[in-house]
Amino acid sequence: MAEPRDTAERSALAPNYDPLPVTISRAQGAYVWDVDGDAYLDFLAGYSALNFGHRHQALLSAAISQLNHLTLTSRAVRHELLEPFARRLADVVGPLTTGGPDSLVVPAGTGAEAVETAIKAVRKWGYDVKGVPEDEANIVVASGNFHGRTTTLSGLSDDPVVRAGFGPFTPGFRTVPFGDADAVADTIDEATVAVLMEPVQGEAGVVVPPDGFWPRLRELADRRDVVLVADEVQSGLGRTGHILACELWATRPDLAVLGKALGGGIVPSSAVVGRRDVLEVLTPGTHGSTFGGNPLACAIAIAVLDLLEPGQYQARAAQLGDVLRDHLQRLTDQGLLTGFRAAGLWAGIDVDPSLTPGREDSARAVCEELLERGVLARETHGTTIRFSPPLSIARPELTHALKILEVSLKSLRD
Ligand code: PMP
Repeated sequence: MAEPRDTAERSALAPNYDPLPVTISRAQGAYVWDVDGDAYLDFLAGYSALNFGHRHQALLSAAISQLNHLTLTSRAVRHELLEPFARRLADVVGPLTTGGPDSLVVPAGTGAEAVETAIKAVRKWGYDVKGVPEDEANIVVASGNFHGRTTTLSGLSDDPVVRAGFGPFTPGFRTVPFGDADAVADTIDEATVAVLMEPVQGEAGVVVPPDGFWPRLRELADRRDVVLVADEVQSGLGRTGHILACELWATRPDLAVLGKALGGGIVPSSAVVGRRDVLEVLTPGTHGSTFGGNPLACAIAIAVLDLLEPGQYQARAAQLGDVLRDHLQRLTDQGLLTGFRAAGLWAGIDVDPSLTPGREDSARAVCEELLERGVLARETHGTTIRFSPPLSIARPELTHALKILEVSLKSLRD
């Protein structure tokens, strides 16, 4: 009889990720260390989940003190931090939406769950308030979007890898080119309940729309009575130099979807914040989440808002963003990059495919060089790398990583 196959070396993980060849064991601030003790500057930062760096003292303290009190109740009963959490979000983020300080908050767990929550809310608002028949409601979304990995949200994507094999998808969405306000205007009809877009598209490679786009969306939403939903899961909470990226264009969405950094890099935590008359359609029994608004998540989110409210992190993101831009412009001028896009401390960096002859995944090849030299970053597409370091990163750490990028690109070229 054949020996049972030794499974000890085989991964028990489903193969839906292709991680870099490094195993992390601890982290502090902008650094992580691997199991061999080698240090890396973390330019992934959980794709904006670690905006305040790893293990920020104030966030750890809030979490530890809450762990010693109460961790979970479910929403079947109240707990003492739930209202203070919602009130703080309504006070800090509400005024950045059309909901103002009278905004409502729907807590959830992951970013995808909060986007799904917003979709449910605007559909029910369309039905209850606007009188759109349930089977006719449509929502306008953008090409190149990324809103999450549920079946409905995968169905919004126009990336064939994200979609293929997962259908049939939820109907009722219309895709227009990102940044094209005329296309949005032409697509909205009587049955349109919402326009749902990322202010700046993260997964697409930090794609920044034309300046007039969001103000135009605001004007269209007002004129045609549709709800403007900004998916700020990746762009929000400081990354672009503002609490909401929509502030870049002085535009207030009706609903803002927050996630990632709301959990302080400690827990999954997300929320929809905005117009009371929309979110109040979610009456008892219509929606819920076991872990949404749990005591630990609330304690951490309040500490996150305490960090953001004085504005220092936003100012840092803007200042260091200028440093990032200057360096990337220099590398582009030297012909080492084909271009880049940036918003605050966040950049999509386009690698010249001729640097890696015979390899289509040139961005991945650069990321492997970066890893060798102590910087963690990942490709978003074949030729684009995303840089999103913690907003707490020191300027010398940022310039060091940019020097490593330059050395890595030159080593591939030479
Ligand atoms: N929306 C945006 C804009 C995102 O970038 C992401 C995650 N990359 C999500 C939603 C989904 O968040 P989560 O992975 O927490 O479900």
